[in-house]
Amino acid sequence: MNKVAYREAQDNQLKYLLSYVSDHSPYYQKVFRERGVDIETILNIEDLAVLPFTTKDDLAAANDDFLCVPKSRIADFVTTSGTLSDPVAFYLTDSDIERLATNEAASFQCAGGTEQDIYQLMTTIDRRFMAGLAYWMGARKMGAGMIRVGPGAPFLQWESIQRFSPTVIIAIPSFIPRLIDYAVANGIDFKSSTIRSIICIGEPIRNQDFTYNELGKRITSQWNVKLYSTYASTEMGAAFTECSEGKGGHLNPDLLVLEVVDEQDHAVAEGELGEVVITTLGVEGMPLIRYRTGDLCHVYYSPCACGRTSPRLGPVMGRKQQMIKFKGTTIFPPAIFDVLDMVKEIELYQVVVSKNEFGNDEITILLALHLNTAAFREMLHSLFKSKLRVTPLFEFITAEELTFRIFRQEKRKPEKLIYI
Ligand SMILES: [Zn+2]
Repeated sequence: MNKVAYREAQDNQLKYLLSYVSDHSPYYQKVFRERGVDIETILNIEDLAVLPFTTKDDLAAANDDFLCVPKSRIADFVTTSGTLSDPVAFYLTDSDIERLATNEAASFQCAGGTEQDIYQLMTTIDRRFMAGLAYWMGARKMGAGMIRVGPGAPFLQWESIQRFSPTVIIAIPSFIPRLIDYAVANGIDFKSSTIRSIICIGEPIRNQDFTYNELGKRITSQWNVKLYSTYASTEMGAAFTECSEGKGGHLNPDLLVLEVVDEQDHAVAEGELGEVVITTLGVEGMPLIRYRTGDLCHVYYSPCACGRTSPRLGPVMGRKQQMIKFKGTTIFPPAIFDVLDMVKEIELYQVVVSKNEFGNDEITILLALHLNTAAFREMLHSLFKSKLRVTPLFEFITAEELTFRIFRQEKRKPEKLIYI
């Protein structure tokens, strides 16, 4: 689809969305009434800017008021990850699940997938998690196969790879070094496995200039696999997935309208950093208009070498709410992860952000006890000094305790970052 064509389609879908929420969404009915919004004056996506933003706080405060259908029509009940706040409920109708499947099939295809592929899912499919369901539905829709192993369990992962010969892994990328270490320790010839690519979710694998970050380098230096990054959230119900060019995740213009805005809420220019704001298209249960994700990305409007003309998002540089002011320096957690990922001796870590007695941010990094030597601490200090200009505190605890803290049963994802 060329650029003009998708814009026209988006304009039409937007008009439908506005009339739909005016008829069915108690939340948007109230907002439009209070702000005097006349939806008849909004003719295309350029006019979106007259509508108010929807924030995470709005969604949390009026959660069920966003629902546009009776609860009896809900097919799947999910919650957001709630990294920084309490999880918010999200309701999907049958057609919303179908929309997820369409999104994920398109995402897999963007990342080079075909019906010949077999995917091995290394993330949670239950625990009220939307993404796992989406991956399964997407693979099915595309006609591919899937092995649902779930998170962790390196033995079972390798046993499944050897037994069923999957071609693509779907995983949180920081799990992959553990998977490789397990293979090395147990004499598994991982280099001649059938895996040819990895769909990396939840964490960036690239720097701002699209070169691999330390985690991306760590994986690709050991294993000849192609990495595809994907950025998604429950609220979007859609994903920005990289094509083989690896130059940012592509917008699926049938499913989302994308805006990227600066501190003054103005759209940023080509290659600039801003907050990702999305409007969902084709959602029946809980459509969102101008939803502020809090995620900061660079945006690219220029056509991609793959032929797609939809905008692309670079790696998530951080979340607005996760900005840490530490000893006069502004740091986002991914930058800390990137330094830790450079050190091959570090298998597990947890970054703890807290406030000290003066109300300033403190960063403590929990590491395994066996690393606690003067030489290692000295190396970490100078590494952080050279990469981030500041040095956090380091605390060493037993590997069991560290594992327990990171992989908590009630959490769906490993907790690399916590706030106390
Ligand atoms: Zn592309």
